[in-house]
Amino acid sequence: MPPVQDGDIIVVGAGTAGSYAAATMAQAGLDVQVLERKPESDAGHIACGDALKGADEFPESVPKTEFDEAITNPDVDHGRFEIPSVDTVIDIPVPGELAVIDRLDFGKSIIEAAQDAGATYVFNTVVTDVVQTDGQVTGVVATRNGDPETYEADIVIDAAGALSILQDKADLEATTFDTNVSYKQFTSAYREVLEVPEPVSWDDALVFKPTDRAEGYIWYFPRTPTEINVGVGFQMTAEPMKLVQAMKTDLEARPEFQDATVVDKLGAAIPTRRPYDSAVAPGYMAVGDAAGHVNPTTGGGIAGAAYAGYYAANTAVSAIENGDVSEAALWDYNEAVMEHFGGRYASLDVYNILTTTVEVEDLMGLLTSIPAEKVSEALYAGTAEFGWGLKLRTLLGSLSHWQLLYRLYQTKSVADRLLAQYKKYPETPADFEAWQAQRDEIMEEVYTVTGADPKY
Ligand SMILES: Cc1cc2nc3c(=O)[nH]c(=O)nc-3n(C[C@H](O)[C@H](O)[C@H](O)COP(=O)(O)OP(=O)(O)OC[C@H]3O[C@@H](n4cnc5c(N)ncnc54)[C@H](O)[C@@H]3O)c2cc1C
Repeated sequence: MPPVQDGDIIVVGAGTAGSYAAATMAQAGLDVQVLERKPESDAGHIACGDALKGADEFPESVPKTEFDEAITNPDVDHGRFEIPSVDTVIDIPVPGELAVIDRLDFGKSIIEAAQDAGATYVFNTVVTDVVQTDGQVTGVVATRNGDPETYEADIVIDAAGALSILQDKADLEATTFDTNVSYKQFTSAYREVLEVPEPVSWDDALVFKPTDRAEGYIWYFPRTPTEINVGVGFQMTAEPMKLVQAMKTDLEARPEFQDATVVDKLGAAIPTRRPYDSAVAPGYMAVGDAAGHVNPTTGGGIAGAAYAGYYAANTAVSAIENGDVSEAALWDYNEAVMEHFGGRYASLDVYNILTTTVEVEDLMGLLTSIPAEKVSEALYAGTAEFGWGLKLRTLLGSLSHWQLLYRLYQTKSVADRLLAQYKKYPETPADFEAWQAQRDEIMEEVYTVTGADPKY
């Protein structure tokens, strides 16, 4: 019989979501154990573009002051879109606080903050299975330094990232937990950190560039003027792309990278999909990438992970206090996510769906004819208002793209309706199926308007 460890809460994964959850619950006095498969030295080392948005408003359990030193470039303030097909560069302002960080330092700082709050981190521990009793999750099985161990807890928080094994192992059929998840809803991404001999001239910008195929994009994010995070990703609806080759080809064409040195390489999947409809089951909550809490148009998931960890933790504290870890008792967490950012991300996903059906040149050509601040609003607020004067000017400025422009307006209208539906996210699991049915009707329209194959 493997040894059994006992506690209030098990968190699986020491990333952003897991550490925010752990810090919040430990501060409330719960006995929290975080199980992390990596050794302590490597924990917090995550494949990422290192762009961090809105850190000044991050949850109070790990405020920005805890990771200030990881912010290596606070001067980025806009996105720069390079559009080779029309030989244009457009600068789009990014609202709110934006920075590029040293991701490992950030990861280590938030782990330390959770440890200081009293959470116990158990490294070198790979979770391999989920323990369930009468449908309720009551613990996990893990291998620690090669030995099997069972961990029991009132609640298990799944913060194991985009490819969490827990959801494969748990039987969630009788619950509301979202199991409609497929790798086609994800982006495959690879990034390198490069040191260049001379400072780049664009160290105040997050540079994006489409690849030859509409599903792919390349980024250049300056951690400092001489340390650049370069990455490439593609939506997995498409035929696989040779990521390393696509990056190498682009780098070779840029003189500033001629004598660059690679200091780090990592690849991973990003859930560029809508947030899980429900991320709770009895005794179980999923947070961050493990529940699709990523802005599907930018791939930014650090903020969603931090807030999801915080919201799940607050719900867990009340549930344990009240001695009730049923789905209904954990439902508040779903509501908090949908109200804060889930609905917005779900509506942004509609534009992602549209991009699977348009030619990259058409889309980029159109982008150049829409005012930059409107694109910014649409990207970050989830929607943007266009007055009639602006509509006409945009139309006249982009006559060659008018068909696409018309589809974009139709898409925006259905995306706005989707956002309104998420604002009506149910207050209890009892109303969940009816809400989903109405949402699915709107999604049918999304597929009709965009001409895309169903994503869900
Ligand atoms: C290439 C790339 C670029 C990105 N760029 C950005 C960006 O610029 N800005 C941004 O905001 N977001 C970006 N993202 C997304 C962002 O990195 C994620 O959304 C965020 O890290 C999610 O945090 P998380 O805590 O949910 O998961 P993760 O950070 O993935 O943490 C999961 C943790 O769980 C552990 N784990 C997994 N399985 C097990 C197991 N079975 N047992 C024990 N431990 C386990 C892992 O080792 C890991 O430590 C990028 C993602 C990728 C892949």
